[in-house]
Amino acid sequence: MRTLNLASSRDASQSPVNGLLVAGFLAAIIGGTWSTGAMISNAGAGEALRLPEMGDPASIVLTPTQEALLGETLLTQIRGALRVSTDPELNDYVQALGTRLTAAGLDSGMEFHFLLVADRTINAFAAPGGIVAVNTGLLLTAQSESELAGVMAHEIAHVEQRHLARSYANAGAINLRTALAMLASILAGAYGGADVGSAALLSSMAAGAQAQLAFSRANEQEADRVGIGLLAAAHFDPQGMPAFLQRLHEHSQLSVGPVPEYLSTHPVTLSRVSDTRSRAAQFTGSFAKDSARFQFAKARALALSTDPNSLISQYEETLRAGVANDSTDRYVYALALTRAGEPERSIEVLNTIDATPETSLHVDLAIAQAHLSAGDPQLALAPLQRLNEIYPEQESIIYYLAQALTDAGRPHDALNHLDEATRVEGHNPALDQLRAEAAARASLPWISHEALADYYSAYGQFGAALQKLELALATSHIDPIARIRIRSKRDRLIELQQGEDRPGEQLPTRSGSVAR
Ligand SMILES: [Zn+2]
Repeated sequence: MRTLNLASSRDASQSPVNGLLVAGFLAAIIGGTWSTGAMISNAGAGEALRLPEMGDPASIVLTPTQEALLGETLLTQIRGALRVSTDPELNDYVQALGTRLTAAGLDSGMEFHFLLVADRTINAFAAPGGIVAVNTGLLLTAQSESELAGVMAHEIAHVEQRHLARSYANAGAINLRTALAMLASILAGAYGGADVGSAALLSSMAAGAQAQLAFSRANEQEADRVGIGLLAAAHFDPQGMPAFLQRLHEHSQLSVGPVPEYLSTHPVTLSRVSDTRSRAAQFTGSFAKDSARFQFAKARALALSTDPNSLISQYEETLRAGVANDSTDRYVYALALTRAGEPERSIEVLNTIDATPETSLHVDLAIAQAHLSAGDPQLALAPLQRLNEIYPEQESIIYYLAQALTDAGRPHDALNHLDEATRVEGHNPALDQLRAEAAARASLPWISHEALADYYSAYGQFGAALQKLELALATSHIDPIARIRIRSKRDRLIELQQGEDRPGEQLPTRSGSVAR
């Protein structure tokens, strides 16, 4: 279907620094081009919050079960079409932020997937099945955690209120073809039909899509209202939403160059800013506006999406000019040093950061990463094992620990950690890559093939995944339990592929049977 581009799954530096230095190093925030999707719209005075009821039109159009199945397939197609970040720490961060919002304010039981798209334009979008995606450009533009949370809460509200399910009228057959058509419409809305990576198929489908998935004005108002409620329930400052809208409004006034069609039809108006501001003012209590974790995540996103040499020279210039630097500035500098092949200098810089309990994890993981880049897995091991005991299920820690164990010649121990983490639905595909590597070193070729198949599946490359599963089954000495597991994965992929070829078929369910 598509060729695998491993680079597309990483935060490879592609965007040059085109921002401006404003009062300090980290203030160099990149102003991307305008490309706004579902989050930009008009808003007016509101009606009361209304949750969808059983039997409402949305449920008739697309049942929650159908939506979840569609979402599962959409997730693989979105990973295949967009540069979804697989950085373990950034991934952990957006998952934690999204989960804090959904856990506090929702009880629908819907499973959410929060994605960070490595793209410097300011954008966010929602897709059926609980998918909420935020661009790196938006993370870098937000000035506080409550602003980012405001955008995510708005998108979560679109999903929760089932606006997408309502707007998709031709949901008779839910299959891979449906998912692709849906994705084409979503991306045409969110990215203006622009280049979405290697997906030539998508461009042709976007051209044929009947209509863009634009939310109605009423949907947008509802998403703002519900989103503000989610912010308050999760103890984020509800003023984060109007603050970010205000920032976007100012940005749009300054913006030069062509304005994408979506923005011209759905501008952030001053009335939307003031409406959300007065709604947010109705909430009182103690709210968190910002966090050190947010500032470190933002620093990391900047460091991973910018040419490291230009970051290094910018930082050293501010040192010479005597401009004060703070801990996030030094963190960015250290990450850039590691990326530029100077891990020893990076560790020296990281050791000068006075880490707080909130930020020490980021600093410790950066030190571990630098040791791994320097080819010293032994030095990374003990601190990572300690962190894994404190935070046993954190993917980013498991990722670096497994890497350290593999590099230190202990691939079986690495596999033990990875086996648990990769059983989690929707896990970071970067873990599958590591699992493939560790299994190859542990002389377990069928596990290695299976892990690569999982990796390809996560990117919607079902043909390549099937080939790997066939290779796994053809391996001699394969253990019987693995054989059963791999066969059932193979059968499920075959059903998925057949759905693509035969419109009208239904998506297989998780257990491999067919949903009706
Ligand atoms: Zn919206």
